[in-house]
This record gives sequence, structure tokens and C-alpha cells, in this order.
Amino acid sequence: MIPVSKPSMGNEELEAVGKVFQTGWLGLGSTVFDFENILKDYLGVKNVIAVNTGTSAIHIALDAFGISAGDEVIVPSMTFAATIQAILATGAVPVFCEINSDTLNVDVADIEKRITAKTKAIIPVHYCGQACDMDELLAIARPKGIKIIEDAAHAFGSSYKGKKIGSLGDAACFSFDPIKTITCGEGGAVTLNDDEIAEKIRRKRILGIDKDTWHRYRNERTWFYQVTDIGYRYHMSNINAAIGIEQFKKIDKFIERKREITMRYDKEFRTLPGIKVLSNNYAETAQFCYILRVENGRDELMNFLKTKGVGSGVHYIPNHIQPVFKKFSPDALPITDKMAEQIITLPLYYDMTDSDVELVLNSVKEFFNAKS
Ligand SMILES: *Cc1c(COP(=O)(O)O)cnc(C)c1O
Repeated sequence: MIPVSKPSMGNEELEAVGKVFQTGWLGLGSTVFDFENILKDYLGVKNVIAVNTGTSAIHIALDAFGISAGDEVIVPSMTFAATIQAILATGAVPVFCEINSDTLNVDVADIEKRITAKTKAIIPVHYCGQACDMDELLAIARPKGIKIIEDAAHAFGSSYKGKKIGSLGDAACFSFDPIKTITCGEGGAVTLNDDEIAEKIRRKRILGIDKDTWHRYRNERTWFYQVTDIGYRYHMSNINAAIGIEQFKKIDKFIERKREITMRYDKEFRTLPGIKVLSNNYAETAQFCYILRVENGRDELMNFLKTKGVGSGVHYIPNHIQPVFKKFSPDALPITDKMAEQIITLPLYYDMTDSDVELVLNSVKEFFNAKS
């Protein structure tokens, strides 16, 4: 079975982990700081704070900006459950918004209608790696003092108007879980230009322990430390950072191959009746996954593909219908509901062979030709 996604790992990653073992320092340390510096240069942002998951990146960013109980955070229902859980972890309430059917990115006009006096943040999700309209989002948020915390879990390596995603909003949150563009095994990062909030996040990721105090007393009293913030145990480990550093060296070829497959899929699928290809800014998008819209018979197609040895998925089941989330934001979301019926995720990963790609193409074509 061709899976929907698969990480591409080699001996380089294994050897890098072995080197960390030899140093004897497995937790937060110099390998993590090296990884952060690499990302800082690549993204062109002042601060990178590496954490243990993308979910904790979103939680800690919201928390550092003071988002808490009584606040509202506008977020698309069409996202991974992680985004919603991160909001709820702060005590704030998610307010679900609609998406555009041509990109599955947030509908900015719909967001505007949902802003209230309680709105403290908006979380745009850069779907499949394609950037949301950041200029429009910042234009509605900045005058009201609303923070834009990007869920950039899909978008490592993508750009918006020539600038890498990571320094556009108030903060961007990346994920390096096993299926993301590059992986650390598990990992995440918050990126931002604000030095003060960045320092706060650095303390919060390791139990709110104040490193400055720690340094100040280092010479006389090495055992002394102060806890100055509410914090978590969210820091990245040297083991995970070592994997990330090796993965990063391969990013250009990862992006290039996935773009090539995406363009091939789009070209062939565009001619099939009953299918809608998402609109794609190829030049700026580091494609994360490949999603098609099937106007009728999506579930049938998934079953058919299975018989052909082609895996598929649905990204995502909307959050506004999830048992634990629906009470927070009970509004109807007709476009999201419609998309949830139509979307199918097809295999897309670096190690796919040309014959894997052919099998996916031919199987989808066979299904639609048999139908018409
Ligand atoms: C992967 C993902 C996350 C969470 O990242 P983890 O590293 O898995 O915790 C958040 N949002 C979206 C859209 C994701 O795809």
C-alpha cells in the first residue's frame, strides 16, 4: 500500500543521534541552539525557540501573549485538532471561522464578522503549505490590537510575497512531527521578532526558570535558580534537534520533489470531470500534502483506491462537529461542511517513486472513467 505520507530518513540522522549519545547531554543543550540558529538564518527572523511539538508551540505562543480564560481566539474549524486543543489549554475559547473553497485557507471577510471585544488572537492555518493572505489579516487585526499567531505546521519553507513564513505575524508556530516537511522525530518551534516575548517563551518552555538569574549567580552559587514565570516542560531535546539538523540539509530537494509531483497531479486531474484541483501558488509553496476536491463520491473513491493499493485520507474532520469542541462555537459552517464531504488527501512524500505516482494517477483516472 502506498501511504499518504512517510518521512524520508537516512543514516545521517542516525549518526547525528549517535554523536549526541557520545556527548552524554541528551536534553536541552547546544544541539538545540544550533538547530535554532539554522532556522533563524533560513527564515530571516530574530528569534527561534525550539519546543517538543507543534501543539506546544501554539500553546506557549498564545500563553506568552497573555491569552487566557475569558478571551476568544478565531481559528478555522478545518485544521488539525492540535490547534484547538492548544487554544483550550490557555483557558480561552475557540471561535470557528470559514475557509475559501479554492485554497482551504481562512476566509478573511468571515473572520472580520466574528471579531468581538473578547477577540485576542487569530490563528490562520497555512493549508497544505500555501500562505494565507497575511496582508489582509494584519490589516484587520493590527488596528484592534489582535495578535496573529500563525499555525505554520504545514508551511516550513513556504513564502508569502517573497518572504519566508516565520516572521510575518506576531508569531509563527512550526511542527517537526514525523510527517511534516522536515522532522525532528517530534518537535516544534515558535518564531518571532519580539525579543521580550521570545525571552518569556524561552523561560516558559523550561518550567519558567529564569536563566538570567541562573547565569548571574553561576560563579558563586551554581545551584541557585529562580522560577519567575508559569511554565511548562516543552523544550526540545538535543536528540531531536540532531535529527532536525540533518533533515534541514535536505530541505531543498524535499520541496522540489514534492512540488514536481504536485504539478504533475494538478495537470492530470484538472482534465477530469467531477474533480476540483485546489488553486496553488507553486513558486512560493513548499507543498505539505496533496488534497483534491471530489464533488461526488469521495468515499467511493477512497474505497476504490484501497483496492488498488493506494492509501488516502481526509485532512481534516472539522473541529466544530467534534464531540468535545462543538459546545464552544456552535455556529453553522456550510462551506467547511461541504469541503469536509469533498476533500481527499492523496499520497505525497519525498521517497515516492515515479511508478508510485503513476499508480495514483491511473487509479484515480480509472475510477472517474468508469463512472462517466
Ligand atoms: C501537525 C500539526 C499541528 C501540531 O503539530 P504536532 O507537532 O503534531 O504537535 C498543528 N496544526 C496543524 C495544522 C498540523 O498539521
